[in-house]
Amino acid sequence: NVRVRFCPSPTGNPHVGLVRTALFNWAFARHHQGTMVFRIEDTDAARDSEESYQQLLDAMRWLGLDWDEGPETGGPHAPYRQSQRMDIYRDVAEKLLAGGYAYYCYCTTEELETRRDTARAAGRPSGYDGHCRVLTAEQAEAYAAEGRPAIVRFRMPDEPITFTDLVRGELTFTPENVPDYGIVRANGNPLYTLVNPVDDALMEITHVLRGEDLLSSTPRQIALYKALIELGVAKTVPSFGHLPYVMGEGNKKLSKRDPQSSLNLYRERGFLPEGLLNYLSLLGWSFSADQDVFTVPEMISKFEITDVNANPARFDLKKAESINADHIRLLDVKAFTAACEPWLRAPHAPWAPEDFDRTAWEAIAPHAQTRLTVLSEITANVDFLFLPEPVRDEASWTKAMKEGSDALLTTARAKLAGADWNSPESLKNAVLAAGEEHGLKLGKAQAPVRVAVTGRTVGLPLFESLEVLGKDRTLARIDAALA
Ligand code: GLU
Repeated sequence: NVRVRFCPSPTGNPHVGLVRTALFNWAFARHHQGTMVFRIEDTDAARDSEESYQQLLDAMRWLGLDWDEGPETGGPHAPYRQSQRMDIYRDVAEKLLAGGYAYYCYCTTEELETRRDTARAAGRPSGYDGHCRVLTAEQAEAYAAEGRPAIVRFRMPDEPITFTDLVRGELTFTPENVPDYGIVRANGNPLYTLVNPVDDALMEITHVLRGEDLLSSTPRQIALYKALIELGVAKTVPSFGHLPYVMGEGNKKLSKRDPQSSLNLYRERGFLPEGLLNYLSLLGWSFSADQDVFTVPEMISKFEITDVNANPARFDLKKAESINADHIRLLDVKAFTAACEPWLRAPHAPWAPEDFDRTAWEAIAPHAQTRLTVLSEITANVDFLFLPEPVRDEASWTKAMKEGSDALLTTARAKLAGADWNSPESLKNAVLAAGEEHGLKLGKAQAPVRVAVTGRTVGLPLFESLEVLGKDRTLARIDAALA
């Protein structure tokens, strides 16, 4: 039975790298009818925040990445917030000390630095040199009597550690590259290095799927796991798979601080959760050689962690948008109409709530659905329907209102006045006929009409827009442009 975990620390805003990790874990769990464990790694009181915790839950819910065990849901291994599990870690640290798997280390920061510099200068490995792993009881007591603070350090085995990464294949770490490491601070607070594998063990995680940045902690965790198995705390060592880095602009690692990486940005711009998930799944994985757009259930049916590519993935906003656009087209029109709602209300919408006309919106919605890249674009596309005056885009006016456009508008107005307002075709023929009188093709003839009525040179199909706006308001706007 597959058991995976998504275990973010509640610091800052959720970002796309985090979402990709959550998605791959979730898709893997769902593909194998396994269990998705959501755990909050909030052992760093200085950096963790309740706000960030709430944002994580909210983000997961918005994306539809549900969890079987975790905060608010509970489960057999509750609690799922590490800040509520401190007794467990203390107990395990004591067992590790008692069993000789870990030891108190009294080295001060200055001593560590001095010895590290010496080792570097001599070309020796510069990690922890094992000074305190061989202390006699008397030496340890003497250090303690001096009042030296002591951290708990895990004793790494002296042989290499080899494991098969589900993404990268077989990897070997030699002892000089993985020195003994701290697991409990001098003040008694357990570190990530301890709490993460301890919880993975207790929560019976079978597959650890996480970012490549955590690869160096894997040999340490495997060694710790083996100790936990000998102590009867863990049953088996999980499998590990490290997801490739996501590269941003200039081929640099996409950082949490990069505005492009903030999940909130995509939400506010009106990405659909399924569009964003589709795009993020392509960061290191592919659905098939000739299909980039697929639904979440389709992804689940094909997702295998061993198909993930170890090469860095490139974040491409244009591609993300184009995939999102495809997902907008895939919605049924009712779902599309509903999805746009937030952008048709304050604070996004500039019109008064009472000026919003649902019938007009429902009439124009199908024409908008085929054109949007992100839902937030809907506001500017339909504002001409709900504002008393169109938004006047100066660049559009300069471009469309040239010499002769007054004459054209006058003719078009007269022909539109006599057209059938229940037929976009009839409205089109009116403008076409006006253009012919002035020696203009339809494209050139409709530009001043569009600008007069909507304020902009680009927008939804013009004649459908005019029909929805209605005869009186359309003619009044042409009159205003002519005045
Ligand atoms: N809390 C860790 C992080 O957010 C989890 C890393 C892991 O998956 O092991 O980086």
